[in-house]
Amino acid sequence: MNFIIFDLEWNNAYNYKLKRGMNEIIEIGAVKLDENLKVIDTFKQLIKPKLSKKLGSRFKNLTHITIDEINQSGISFENAFDNFSKWCGKGDNLFLSWSTSDLYTLVANFKEFENTVYVDFISKYADAQKYCMHFIENADSSNQISLSNCAEIFEIDTDCINFHRALEDCMITAYCFEKVYDADILQNFIHTCDISFFERLIFKPFYIKEAQYSTFNLDETKIICPVCKGEIKPVKKYEFTNNTFRGAGICDKCGKKFWTYIRAKQTYDDIVVSTRAVQINKKRAKHLV
Ligand SMILES: [Zn+2]
Repeated sequence: MNFIIFDLEWNNAYNYKLKRGMNEIIEIGAVKLDENLKVIDTFKQLIKPKLSKKLGSRFKNLTHITIDEINQSGISFENAFDNFSKWCGKGDNLFLSWSTSDLYTLVANFKEFENTVYVDFISKYADAQKYCMHFIENADSSNQISLSNCAEIFEIDTDCINFHRALEDCMITAYCFEKVYDADILQNFIHTCDISFFERLIFKPFYIKEAQYSTFNLDETKIICPVCKGEIKPVKKYEFTNNTFRGAGICDKCGKKFWTYIRAKQTYDDIVVSTRAVQINKKRAKHLV
């Protein structure tokens, strides 16, 4: 098995078609390691942007890439990834990147420019950041560690390295990966990348605002009385605000009155419904029904 560590630099551009900002890939870098973790090849390519020719200040400050440089040696997104895919080859490759945000951006760019979320040359993927953090004591999984921090913790000499250029970041990631490489532990971090893997990665969960949507039916959603476990029957039409259906009801067993709340969230494979009932104080309950 070879390891391909890739890194992307992107510019936040406004996408007029989607009417929102998106990260457009401007540079791709990669290193290929053989099974003994020896560097056998490198890849580096600038990409001419399609959405915005204007480079944001964050991008410029981070990468120091100039528009002249891009005009001189940049090629189209399609050609860049054709070349990259050929460079990767069809063999048994494990792809790695420092955090899934690079993979996410890659898939989002594929969706925009290649009209598919399926990045067909990636069949196996592992998050190098997550893997390395596994070996750092007291690392908090919610508090992601930067590549430069990790290099420092692993005592890797980065004095002559420019962080935030794609190929350099790949080399540092490779050094970090080598430092804590364990074939058995790595197995637990490898994802098989079929179409649903990519769809899931890019899927954005949302709250349902329709009373009937797919398997969700607002009127059939049961709310259990927190006092006696009876069922609260609605006495008022639901209103939808703040992603929540808000209503009121009376328990059919104990007769207490409640404000009721229902939330339905569409996730990639399911609709998750949550309900809540808050007892209405006596004074207000009198006026209700
Ligand atoms: Zn009750």
